[in-house]
Amino acid sequence: MDVTQIFGTNVFNDEVMRKRLPKDTYKLLKETIDKETPLPPEVADVVASAMKDWAIERGATHYTHWFQPLTGRTAEKHDSFISPTAQGGVIMEFSGKQLIKGEPDASSLPSGGLRATFEARGYTAWDCTSPAFLKEDGVGGVTLCIPTAFCSYTGIALDKKTPLLRSMAAVSRQALRVLRALGNTTAHKVTSTVGAEQEYFLVDKKFFAQRLDLIVAGRTLFGAPAPKGQEMEDHYFGQIKDRIAEFMKDLDKELWKLGIASKTKHNEVAPSQFEMAPLFTSTNIAADQNQLVMETLQKVALRHNLVCLLHEKPYAGVNGSGKHTNWSLCTDDGMNLLDPGTTPHENAQFLLFICTLIKAVDRHAYLLRRSAANSGNDHRLGANEAPPAIISIFMGQELTDILEAIAKGEKATSRGSSSIEIGVDTLPPLPKDNSDRNRTSPFAFTGNKFEFRMVASSASISGPCVVLNTIVAEALDEIATRLEKAKDVNKETTLIIRDTMKEHGRIIFNGNNYSEEWVKEAGKRGLPNIRSTVEALKTFTDKKALDLFKKYKVLSKEELHSRYEIYLEQYTKQINIEAKAALDMVNSLYIPSVLHFVKELAETIEKLEAVKGPTVVQRDLLARISTLLEAAYRNVEKLDTELAKAHEIDDSYRRAAACRDNVFATMNDLRKNIDALEKIVPRKLWPVPTYADLLFNL
Ligand code: ADP
Ligand code: MG
Repeated sequence: MDVTQIFGTNVFNDEVMRKRLPKDTYKLLKETIDKETPLPPEVADVVASAMKDWAIERGATHYTHWFQPLTGRTAEKHDSFISPTAQGGVIMEFSGKQLIKGEPDASSLPSGGLRATFEARGYTAWDCTSPAFLKEDGVGGVTLCIPTAFCSYTGIALDKKTPLLRSMAAVSRQALRVLRALGNTTAHKVTSTVGAEQEYFLVDKKFFAQRLDLIVAGRTLFGAPAPKGQEMEDHYFGQIKDRIAEFMKDLDKELWKLGIASKTKHNEVAPSQFEMAPLFTSTNIAADQNQLVMETLQKVALRHNLVCLLHEKPYAGVNGSGKHTNWSLCTDDGMNLLDPGTTPHENAQFLLFICTLIKAVDRHAYLLRRSAANSGNDHRLGANEAPPAIISIFMGQELTDILEAIAKGEKATSRGSSSIEIGVDTLPPLPKDNSDRNRTSPFAFTGNKFEFRMVASSASISGPCVVLNTIVAEALDEIATRLEKAKDVNKETTLIIRDTMKEHGRIIFNGNNYSEEWVKEAGKRGLPNIRSTVEALKTFTDKKALDLFKKYKVLSKEELHSRYEIYLEQYTKQINIEAKAALDMVNSLYIPSVLHFVKELAETIEKLEAVKGPTVVQRDLLARISTLLEAAYRNVEKLDTELAKAHEIDDSYRRAAACRDNVFATMNDLRKNIDALEKIVPRKLWPVPTYADLLFNL
């Protein structure tokens, strides 16, 4: 496979545009993309026609406005290019109007009540900063996909992309102000960049098909631990088996065709867990691409008789999956604003941007936490594996020492770092993070970018990026205002560092985030420890959040409120599905199997005792099983009741809280009973594949 030939073949990218568009059209479109100005209709017609010809040559018959509703997935409605002719035939047509705007009747997608009150229909609008691409489905089905934003007619965001684009504009505006104040006149745009590392599990399709819990909930609701878990540490970065290598090769090929620069692949910590990472790109494209990565993972897996699990915690007892979101800011003239650089001037700029992050993350830690909240991530965050539920920043000792030394304005002795005079001295070289140095931090500085490690593996990265961009925009705004007023920019920079460390230095933590001591210490520092999704979602209604998102024109009060309602409902629905699947499995699979064994045992006891007197082992086993079975039976009744009770609650927050406190808790009790039974009932009678089957059979 010649990768350079394959790469981007399904993308209407710059190279294709340059080749296929008339020179002036190309120039106008480029301007639109760079300056984010509206596309003139006559230009749109030319672009649409070229796009259609290109797509048809590659087998496309349909086009779709591809968008990202608040389900966190993508949505598409395919329209064919056909248009009738007077002679009764058809021609293939695609106008500029159809390219720029679509009107899907998307009334079944979640709107959190927005469309009921405002406008029944929504429209989709082309995000021309993310290139159009071709999607291949089944044998020979090719569809031209136009990445779009999805809004109501009154301009209310009904999707994940609209706020993301707004937040990118906000952070660009404020970052430019800081750069101007520092004397930079060459940058005209600052882009937030993201590289999202996607973790996932693979499971053999034949086992998957026998597990209702995996099918409907994406995770195992039952399952006793296998004799082996991840304790041997033999899977992480282990040799990739042939079957998986074939899958990964196929995956890479599909991703490369879509212009997704899939770069890294490896085995992850848990058995049957893997990771792929692409090269970073601008945030909206990274978000689009990550959606395609998730979709392609699932699609390609099926071709190999595998199923890809994107759930945050498919299996109890082994690590779950996340999506490390690497984030930075980059100028249009190619400068990474989180790179320390080598000159005193670059260093000053770097330290200011680091301060921005310290300020932003400390002030709005709860928003970041919320952006990573979903029912799946509740199993990870705070559960002694991936990052804890408490947000802190890993800065590395060297950089921390430097910041502290500057803040104190005195010579620091630790580790040889001395106080730095901003604008005069250069920073001592900072060691590049090799990502093993602190894997426990939820938000780590890794040399020239930050890595937000809480992000949910199954979720869109848009939410976390919207939060990051917006909170950083606010901090940049404040810093810019100070710099603009300052007589001496270097002195002011020193003061900004000092004030930031004083007010927000508590967010820096370089130690072990999994330790009990940290939970206590964080409490002393007043850092929030939000343990569940329901609690996290509450922050959608905080005045502080409303003001922030309003000020930077990212999300209005209505938009925030609709999200609050939608995400609460999503949580409730997910728990509801899990509970119903659990009841179904227990009633129709586990209890009948156990009863079967109980009958076998009782008959054996009867027969044996008729000939040889009391049977100790069989009676003991029967007694233990009966106790567990009865407990399971009671918990089934309880789960049924709690589920019904939760449904009667009208208030969406209290309903979600009841799901968490009562339904979910009872499910866990029930699981304990069933898992204990699994350990004593004969394997041949156990009705579903075990953890050993699911985890160690690839
Ligand atoms: P690590 O630092 O974890 O050893 P890499 O440096 O290769 O590994 O980066 C991991 C991810 O971070 C990749 O997706 C990479 O493209 C992304 N990344 C690197 N630099 C940036 C940046 N400036 N902005 C956003 N993401 C970045
Ligand atoms: Mg990783």
